[in-house]
Amino acid sequence: MPLNDIQTRVAAAEKQAGRAPGSVTLIAVSKVQPLERVRAVLDQGQRVFGENKVQEAQGKWPDFRAQYDGIALHLIGPLQSNKARAAMEIADAIHTLDRAKLVTTFARLAQDLGRCPEVFVQINTGAEPQKAGVLPDEADALIADARRSDLPLVGLMCIPPADEDPVPHFKMLGEIAQRNGLTGLSMGMSGDFEAAIAAGATHIRVGSAIFGERVAP
Ligand SMILES: *Cc1c(COP(=O)(O)O)cnc(C)c1O
Repeated sequence: MPLNDIQTRVAAAEKQAGRAPGSVTLIAVSKVQPLERVRAVLDQGQRVFGENKVQEAQGKWPDFRAQYDGIALHLIGPLQSNKARAAMEIADAIHTLDRAKLVTTFARLAQDLGRCPEVFVQINTGAEPQKAGVLPDEADALIADARRSDLPLVGLMCIPPADEDPVPHFKMLGEIAQRNGLTGLSMGMSGDFEAAIAAGATHIRVGSAIFGERVAP
């Protein structure tokens, strides 16, 4: 689906939900997409992109950044501690802070690098064993920990279980954010971004609906 169709759907969902126009940031998830497709979307004016692997981001974004102004890169995949430095060097935002150890690592690296990307705490709203994210019960403590370490915490992120209605998960994320005084909500993907906007998403992560199906790596 062309980018401007997605933008039209985002605008309609904002309006429907009584949200201000432009209150939702569309993150175009370019992981595993051929570079020509990414370039086509850049040429249409999109500047906010998401990747889920640090190494893949390092492989494509330095070149694109040299060619296009104003690119913002969001890392949305599970993050190993040994990739944290590279992640912080390349990203404008990291959506997947999910454990105390990473808080310590980010805080130390922020000192070293003199900067820190915006941070979202990932919540495993479905408590799925295979999925990254802090458990809902442990979220408040991790958020407090990130605050104590002065990380630039802007909100929360979730990936609802694939086989469930996402709306209760979006609502849970909103409740955890609200009781912690956080305003950013990274939720909603190709199949459910309108429902996420209705539930208060501020950042939606849309891949295949913009770029087409991902080519198997
Ligand atoms: C791949 C990915 C997306 C985008 O998924 P689509 O269904 O293609 O829109 C969103 N969020 C995360 C964390 C992803 O890894």
